[in-house]
Formats: sequence, structure tokens, C-alpha cells
Amino acid sequence: MKALVKSNSNSRIESNRIDCTTYRYLCIGGATTATPLQHHCNMPAPTPKMTAVTKLKIFSNLLTQAESLKEKGNKLFSSKDYIASHNNYSHALHITTQLNAHCDNDPLLLSSQRILFVSLIGNNALVLYKLGRYSEMQANCNSILSQASIYDGYDLTKIWYRRALAREALGQNEEAKIDLEHCMRSFGDKDEARLNKGRNDTLLALERVNNRLKRQFEKDNAGTCPSSASQRHIISTLLSQASVPRTGEAFYLLDFDWWRLWCNHVNFHAIDDDMKLKLNIIIPDKKENADTEEDDRSSSEEESDDDSYCDGYGRRPGAINNRRLLISSSNPQASDFFFQEWRPQQSATMLIPQLVRGHHFEILPRDAYAALKSWYGEICANTTICRRAMLMDKHGRPKVFLYPNAQRSIESRNNMGVVYDQSSGRVGLNNLGNTCFMNSALQCLSHATPLTRYFLTSHYKKDINVSNPLGTGGKLAAAYDTMVRSLWMGNSRQYNISPRALKRAIALFAPRFAGTSQHDSQEFLAFLLDGLHEDLNRVRNPPYIEKADVNHEHDLNVAGAEAWDAHCKRNQSIVHDTFYGQFKSTCICPNCKQISVSFDAFNHVSLEIPQLSSFGRIIPIIMFSANSHSVPPTRYGIVVSKNAHLSDVKLQLSRLSGVPIERLSICDIYQSKIYEIISDSKNVSDLNKDDTVMAYEIDPYTPSTMHVVATQFKQGVPDDKSSIGYPLLTSFSIDLSCRQVKEHMMNRLSYLPLSNDSLVKIRIVDNNGAQLEVFENSSSIIPNSDEKLASFLKEDCAESFLFAAIEWSDSSHMLNDNLEFIDHSSLVEAVKKHRAMLNRTLTLDQCLDNFTRPERLDEDNKWYCTKCKYHVRAEKTMKLWRLPNVLVIHFKRFEFRNAMRREKLDSLVEYPLEGLNMNKYCASSSFAGHAENGEVNANQETFVVNDIPATYDLFGCVNHYGRMGFGHYNAYARRWNEYHMEDDWRLFDDSSVRDGITETDVVSNSGYLLFYRRRVFA
Ligand SMILES: [Zn+2]
Repeated sequence: MKALVKSNSNSRIESNRIDCTTYRYLCIGGATTATPLQHHCNMPAPTPKMTAVTKLKIFSNLLTQAESLKEKGNKLFSSKDYIASHNNYSHALHITTQLNAHCDNDPLLLSSQRILFVSLIGNNALVLYKLGRYSEMQANCNSILSQASIYDGYDLTKIWYRRALAREALGQNEEAKIDLEHCMRSFGDKDEARLNKGRNDTLLALERVNNRLKRQFEKDNAGTCPSSASQRHIISTLLSQASVPRTGEAFYLLDFDWWRLWCNHVNFHAIDDDMKLKLNIIIPDKKENADTEEDDRSSSEEESDDDSYCDGYGRRPGAINNRRLLISSSNPQASDFFFQEWRPQQSATMLIPQLVRGHHFEILPRDAYAALKSWYGEICANTTICRRAMLMDKHGRPKVFLYPNAQRSIESRNNMGVVYDQSSGRVGLNNLGNTCFMNSALQCLSHATPLTRYFLTSHYKKDINVSNPLGTGGKLAAAYDTMVRSLWMGNSRQYNISPRALKRAIALFAPRFAGTSQHDSQEFLAFLLDGLHEDLNRVRNPPYIEKADVNHEHDLNVAGAEAWDAHCKRNQSIVHDTFYGQFKSTCICPNCKQISVSFDAFNHVSLEIPQLSSFGRIIPIIMFSANSHSVPPTRYGIVVSKNAHLSDVKLQLSRLSGVPIERLSICDIYQSKIYEIISDSKNVSDLNKDDTVMAYEIDPYTPSTMHVVATQFKQGVPDDKSSIGYPLLTSFSIDLSCRQVKEHMMNRLSYLPLSNDSLVKIRIVDNNGAQLEVFENSSSIIPNSDEKLASFLKEDCAESFLFAAIEWSDSSHMLNDNLEFIDHSSLVEAVKKHRAMLNRTLTLDQCLDNFTRPERLDEDNKWYCTKCKYHVRAEKTMKLWRLPNVLVIHFKRFEFRNAMRREKLDSLVEYPLEGLNMNKYCASSSFAGHAENGEVNANQETFVVNDIPATYDLFGCVNHYGRMGFGHYNAYARRWNEYHMEDDWRLFDDSSVRDGITETDVVSNSGYLLFYRRRVFA
């Protein structure tokens, strides 16, 4: 057996051989026998194995025969006897095909058969090339390339290259190009002499094919294209005829870069504005330089020396090329082997998920597309992407669904795929001293199927990035690999393993995890995901990309897609594909009202558990209106967030009462006096819960107004301590006479059930309540004089406050608590809300609602306003913009009180095990578009639906018990794949694994980290 392997060890393929053991476990499923390697090494086996040994002998003989035929063929090839060489190869191939029957499904034998087969096909292709039998040559290569999944892990670069040569010779330049591009990618950036030779050959071939394609294209299009002006006219006419989509009408997707190029080329911006409004079309910005973008595209048809095509405007676009929008072998962005299995199946035209109109594509009605196609051609017939308008809208308007199958698969969730070995994953992790925080996170992460499958199939080896200074040189990935293998493919008698190597590796990346102290499970997970991502980052030389400044004038869908593209230029890994999503945060400057939007990637969502206080504060306010003279004061219930300012309170009160914000004065009332006129910048949290807050409608402060603070007293000599009831704040013109001032004050109190002599007198006092003897006869009482009040007062009274004392003979009717206030509906609402807060059950939905609610940043967290040039307490709104395939949700149970103290919130938050609908929290989704008016481009909202449903199921949950820093972590997890979620929840508690967990166990007030998987991968 060893000899068999050795005979091929000179082949490069050997080193890339797939891990056969893995292969068996993943493909056959349920196989419980130990790895077969030992059996063959320890021959001779006992009698029952005799047949196997016999088979092995036959296999060995046939293999030797085929090998020697191959050698013969090689020699004949060298001596240029191609026909004889071909005969030998054919014979060898025939024998090799027979070998299959003798492999007995043994992975090692299968592997040696395949290695030989691949090398024979390669050699035979070359000899067929020499013989000029190109069709045969292509078919020959197809026998391997059409079964790519079987040969996954083998180096097929030569086969791809030779098929390209065959196709080129057959005039299939387009197909040849795809093969050559495939070769280029498989070279990667390894620097080896032998590889460089192959790379050079491939590059030369690519250039040949490209030139030929270009010439062909020029020939095909010579003289067929109308002038720019008539193209403009024809297309705009065709678009206007179909600007209101009809049900059943066909629409065609068009690569947006191509569309931009065309718009520049024919100067489509020149069509008149009336026409533009009529068309349901996105016309790209004129300024943008399409040439630089085009250069990045591997499939670009143009060369920079294409000046001859210029028509006075931009460069002439080549053939329509939609390949970038499709999932195919030539599109590395989406060729991940298993992701496709989760994705909606759409046969030939399978679109890349989450395409954005105006960034990736534009959509045209049939006739307009047909016109463009007839003028420019199409790069490849199977890149035509057609979608029909369907009557799906609730308003009866037709819509075009980009992913029609995805919409349906909410119900079916039926996709192809492999099944895990049923007995695996049931292995505990030893506690290495306070490492339950790590073990619980690892157990959940190990149930994230895409990641685990990626390691178990050894795919990680080809991505491992040892040169990334942000990673651990692959050590973390290797340690994680070892652990995942032990968990899923280890000896079935092993009940627990030690994650020591992984712990050491993570400490390389994040030294804080080196010791034996307790850590936060969430922090650990975030570091682990980050570290794995860096170790597996497929981007070798990340470009520097400046973060774009986005404001409300941008199309947010496009801005979001651009930000994601920019992020992906630096970050591409399995971790990224699986766990990363995108936030949109909007900041509004309180001073200049500038709105700034930014997009950031995330690998988990941290949610606050809403507490009574964080739901906001309810402030009852008694409001004295200036106009409604006979109407009693009104009580309002103002609800603001806990860190709101008084200006926020004013804003709400203004909205509720209709009184302009600048006419509102809000006062803190203490012992029947105005204790303070509260400044706008005061924080609501500084208000005492028992304070009485009153609002007065007054004139804004100007030199020609006078403001009076009036306190009430029982008849007698007023002093500072004997005030009763509620004080009054009012304003009037400085020109009023003493009599008019008295009338004004009486008017303010006219809703009181007064008898004529209830009110005794109104005195002028100082701010301590002492009488000011400013009138005739040293009186402090305002006389019934027609002289201006101001004329009695010293000048300094004019611009500041005047203090007055109102004396009552009958205090039972004065302005106090006994008064019948009017209760505004907001007060009733607020009381209801308060009651609901006290006895509610929290749900995950409420936490998510709370997360996406606008919030004013606190002092420690200010935002820099680029317009005001300083840090401000902006109003910030977070939204989920792009959702990951595995969503990690973290509850902030450890509330940070101060540097010394963190408190744990034990509230129960109910979370769904199945069917968490995230669409409504995703701001970019068309479903959410209704909630966020104006955020989504109107055309897109009503016309193209590009959503993939965001329904999630829970597969893991890390629990925390006890106090912060001293508590204990464990985890619930269940297995899943493309078909379904298993129902057998298990409890992973360090080294112990327990079955028999019910669904009700999984949802508890210990839930700390939640792991959700998306039903249809995006
Ligand atoms: Zn500002």
C-alpha cells in the first residue's frame, strides 16, 4: 500500500490530496468505522478481509499496468510519435477507468486512481493538441472538469489550461477566456519558478484570446451602431414607453459599470429634464471616471488604446457584460463551495446575492435592452438576465423580484447538501482554570456549520494567511482546526478534550486571555472571530481605502454597497462571509443639523436590555398658556430618553401644545416658588424625580418686554417663607400702565373661581420677597394708575425679572393643587406606558427596537461635527443595513455603572428559537422601506425587490450564571445543515455534555450570547 502511494509521490497532486478521512465523514455520513489507513498498513489481514486483499492485489496490478503504459506514452511523445503516444495513453486511461471498480470506496485507493487519471488526461490532451484533434481534446478535459466536486483538492490547473487551448483552437474564445482566468486564480501569488512559467504561458494565451475577441467584436459591430444622438433618442423613447411596468413584462439586468460607460459615451445626461423625470431609470453621475473602474475588471474587453472608439464623449463600451452579476466559476466572489447550497437555486442565471440597483446593476425593459444588445452585442449568451414583473404589491403595482425563488424558499427551505455524521460533536471541553467563558463560546461556534465544515474539509489550508501582520501567522487557525477535528471527527470514545493549544494561540493574538482569570465570553468570541478572520484573510495586499463621507444627498443603497465593496477589498474570509454584516449609523448635529451617515462592518450585535430608566423618563409638566385666558393649565406627559436635554423636553412640549419652542420657559418649582428657570442644556437626569416642573408661555426676552415672577400669599405681610400654591411667570410690554399690568395678571388667573374681592393686592418685591417701596407714599402695592409701571421702576428692572407677590383674602380659590387641571392625552399615554414598563415581559424584538431608536450621545461619547468643527452630543441612530448568514446577538447584561462597579441585569428576555424575522430591523430591506420613509430610493422601493428573506433560527446560546467576574458560563447548542435544524439540544458545560434539553430550557434569564443562522444564505 505504501508503495502505491510512493509511486506517485513525485506528482505535485499528491501534496494537495484531500483529507480522505474527512471526505468520508462528510460525504458518507453516519460512517462510524475508524479510519481505514491502519488496516492496510498491517497486512496480512484475517480471513474475512481476504476479499479486500485480493481486490487490492488486482488494483495494484492494474495500476502498475496503467503506469507503465503512461511511461511508454511519455517516451513516444518525446520522440514525437504522437499517434502511438495517444494510443498508449488511451489504453492507460481505459485501465484507469476500470480501477474504480476495485477501489471498494477506499479513499486512499480512490485517491491514487484519481491522481493517475488526472495526469493521464493532461498528457492525453497535450498529444491530442499536437494531433489537431481539438474537439476530442476538449471532451477529454471535460471528463474531469465537469466533475469538479470529485476532484476538489486536486491541482487541475493544467487541465484547465489545456481545455482553454482546445477551446481557443476551436474558436471558442469566450469560453477559453473563462478557463484561462480560472487558471490565473489557481496560481495565487505563490512565487515558484515552475508556477511562474505556467503563469506566463497563461498570460500570453489570455492576451491572444482577448485580442481575438476584440477583433471579432470590431468586425461584428462595424457600422451597425447609430450615432450617439440617435441612440439617446431611441433608448429614451423606449424607456418612456415602458416607464410604468406592466405585469408579465420582461426586464433585463444590465451591469451598472457598463450602463455608466454607455451613458457617458452617448452623453445620455443630455436628454431633457422633463424626459428624465418620466423615465424609471438611474442615470449615473456624469463626473465619475468610468475608465479607472473599468481597469479593475478582469473581464474588461477594452484596452487603454481604444481611442478610435471615442465619439466626443466617453469611451465606447464593449459588448454588454453581465458576468459580474452572476455566480459562476469565473466569479471568485461567490464561488464558495458550500454557500451555494444555501442559496436559492436559479439554474443558469444565478445572481450574486444582495445586488443593489444603481451600484451593481440597472434594469431595463425588453426593447431598450434589445436595442443596446443589437448595437453592442453581448459578451456571452448565457449572461442575459431576465426577470418578469409580477403583481405582488399590496397596492396592486407590479414588482420585479430579483430573487423570486428566495421569496418562496421561506417555506420550503429545501436545499441540496451533505449531512453531518450523526454521532459527532458530542464532546466536552476541559476547564483549564476559569475557562468556561471560552468553552461555552467555542461550543456554540463549533456548531456554526459553514465554518466547521470549512475546517473539516481542509479548505482552510488554501486560504491560510501566514504573512498577515494582523493575524497569528496561521497558528490560531491551525489550533482551531485541531480542536474542531477533535470535536467532530475524534475518537468516539473520547468524551472531552483540552483546548489548551487554542488558548495559547488566542493569547498570541490577544494577550489578555493568557492568564487563568475569568473573562467575558462575548469579548473572547469577538477576538476569536477577528483572529480567525485575519489568519484566513484571502486578501494578501490590502489596499488603503479612505472611508467615504456620506450625507443625505447620496443614494444610501448605493453608498452602503460601495462601503461594503470597499470593506471587502480588505477583508475576505470564511469568517467574513459567514459572520459579518453592516451597520448604518446616522448622526445629526444638534447645532447645525448636519446629517452624516456611515457604514461599518460588525460581527455581532450588542443589545442593551431596556430597563425602566432606559426606556426613557416620563416628566409630567403643567403648562400655563398665554392665550387661553379662561382655560385652566394643562398637564402633559413628556417621554424622553434618559440622557435627553431640556431642549428635547421643550421640543416635545412644543409639538404637543403648539406653542413655539422660543416662547416656552420651563421652571423647577420648589416650596411654591420658582426655584430655577431650567436651561436648555440641562440634562433630564439632573431633574429630581419629586420636583414639580411647570412650563409657562412667555414672550421671548427683549428690551421692550417685562417678565414677572409672581408668588402667592395669604393676606398679610408677605415674606420669603409664607408663599403658597403655584407661582406664575408672565410677560407683557414695557409700555403697559400700572392698571393694565394688574388687568394682565388678573387675566392670567381668570379661570379661577374668584369672587371680586378674593384678590387683595399685587405688590412688587425683590427676589428675596422683601417689599420694594417704589410707588407713591413708599408703597409696594401696584396702584390703579395710568402711568407706565416702568416709570416707577429703576432701569435695571426692565431687562431682567420683576418679582411680584399676589395676596389673597380667600386662599381656597387660589392657584394650587386643588385646581381642576386639563389632562392632555399625552399624560394618559405616559401613565399607561409607565404601567406597562413595570410589569412587562421583555422580548428580543423590544431590545432590537430599542437598539434602532435614536439616541443622544452622552458626554463621554461625543461625535465630531465636520461643519461645526467640534465635538457635539449628536443624535445617533443605528440601523442594521446588511445582515450576516450567522448572526451573533449579545445582551449587555453587565451594565457599566462606574469604574468600580458593574451590575448584572437578570431580566428575562424572550427570544425565538425559530423564525426570528430580521427584515424589519434591516434598513436597506425593501420590506423595511415603508417604515423609513424617504430613506429608500422611490424607484427601487416601488419597482425592484432585491431582498433575500432574513429569517433566522437559533442554534446556540451561551448562558451566564451568577455575578460578573465570578459567575459560570455554559452553552446550549444544536446541529444543523441546509436541510433542517436538529431538535436535539445539548447542554455543554465544560467537560460534560448532556442531552434531553427541552426548548423551554434554552430560553432563560441567563441567555447571554445568541447564535442564529439565516435560512436562506445571502
Ligand atoms: Zn454641526
